[in-house]
Amino acid sequence: MTQMILKIEGLKVEVEGNEILHGVDLEIGAGEIHAIMGPNGSGKSTLSAALMGYPKYEVTEGKVTFMGEDLLEMDPEDRAVLGLFLSFQYPKEIPGVNLVSFMRASYNAVRKAQAEAKNEEYEPISLFKFKKMVMDKMQLVGLPASFVDRATNEGFSGGEKKKSEILQMSMLEPTLAILDETDSGLDIDALRSICETINKVRREDQSLLMITHYQRILDYITPDHIHIMMDGKVVMSGGAELAQKLEEHGYDYVREQVGIKKPSSFKMVA
Ligand code: ADP
Ligand code: MG
Repeated sequence: MTQMILKIEGLKVEVEGNEILHGVDLEIGAGEIHAIMGPNGSGKSTLSAALMGYPKYEVTEGKVTFMGEDLLEMDPEDRAVLGLFLSFQYPKEIPGVNLVSFMRASYNAVRKAQAEAKNEEYEPISLFKFKKMVMDKMQLVGLPASFVDRATNEGFSGGEKKKSEILQMSMLEPTLAILDETDSGLDIDALRSICETINKVRREDQSLLMITHYQRILDYITPDHIHIMMDGKVVMSGGAELAQKLEEHGYDYVREQVGIKKPSSFKMVA
């Protein structure tokens, strides 16, 4: 049997007093690729933010087990140490902090805590050695070497920001990477190139949770399981063929199947 990596049970999450997630269930095994699809505003980013432990996202009910531990009891840093990684829908710019320093700080923090957990000594990696490692990976993800000295994400194009996130993922080697709308803001060539990179840097035993609005990213990274999120709940799960059905019939197909009424008024979403 596959080892269980993440188990979400009846998760309810509030943002500023409004309940956004109304009881989400999801299980991810080692090495599995899952996709969550859903219309805008269905709660996909809220789920990833709650899993990473953003203070604004208040868990009011439910349980999340990650690597056998109670995730919701842990600080965000400890979640990262345990092997959880989130690539943001909108990566933040960090002016004044160059990419290598930023990545080395998180790398050393994660590796140190991992060593401590095993009662081992940890010698922080030297800047020289780390820079060499990063440059090798940069070549792999297709970022020019000059980016090594640039401020993190500052002035990066949409595609370059996503590449910088995948670069971080490849350095940290998380057990579970959550990629929130990696496809947003990318043209089709940039999307293909990012997906090829993800496929290249992902180890086979790493689990992936891809969050996406559109089916097209799933042409390049084939999920083992697809879950449809609507109105803050996972309303349908299936195999890769579900994406094809959505492509053909849209979310109305899911609404019909599960008996959700189509929203009658237009709702503004961020
Ligand atoms: P998705 O990622 O599926 O598009 P989100 O999780 O971003 O959906 O949003 C789900 C709902 O929660 C939306 O109605 C959105 O307006 C609301 N929401 C999300 N984040 C916040 C926030 N920080 N403050 C207030 N409302 C929020
Ligand atoms: Mg979102």
